[in-house]
Amino acid sequence: MKRILVAEDNDSNYLLMNFILKNNYEILRAVNGKDAVEKSTTEHPDLILMDMKMPMMDGIEATRLIKANHPELPIVAVTANAFDSDRQKALEAGCDDFLAKPVTAAGCLQCIANLLHNS
Ligand SMILES: [Mg+2]
Repeated sequence: MKRILVAEDNDSNYLLMNFILKNNYEILRAVNGKDAVEKSTTEHPDLILMDMKMPMMDGIEATRLIKANHPELPIVAVTANAFDSDRQKALEAGCDDFLAKPVTAAGCLQCIANLLHNS
């Protein structure tokens, strides 16, 4: 089973992601950007769902650091802001795709399947 690291500081948002994904993937959680950077190396995830707004270190900086070490690791930006500028910032940091909150089960599963080539 592929492993997905969900970087999300908010418990409710994390639980929703976990509920959507748990039947198809092994789920790990990071509670801030710094935690995500560490677990990207120690936990060997196959994909990361990255909340953009987190304490300690935001998703943009975490994505830059992770991509520097793991350029092939897919990272999906998850953000409440659906503005083009936010989307652009996420893509410039190295994110491979983008999900706007509120995330839907179908949208989330399809996005992940596309990146993991297991659709
Ligand atoms: Mg957040």
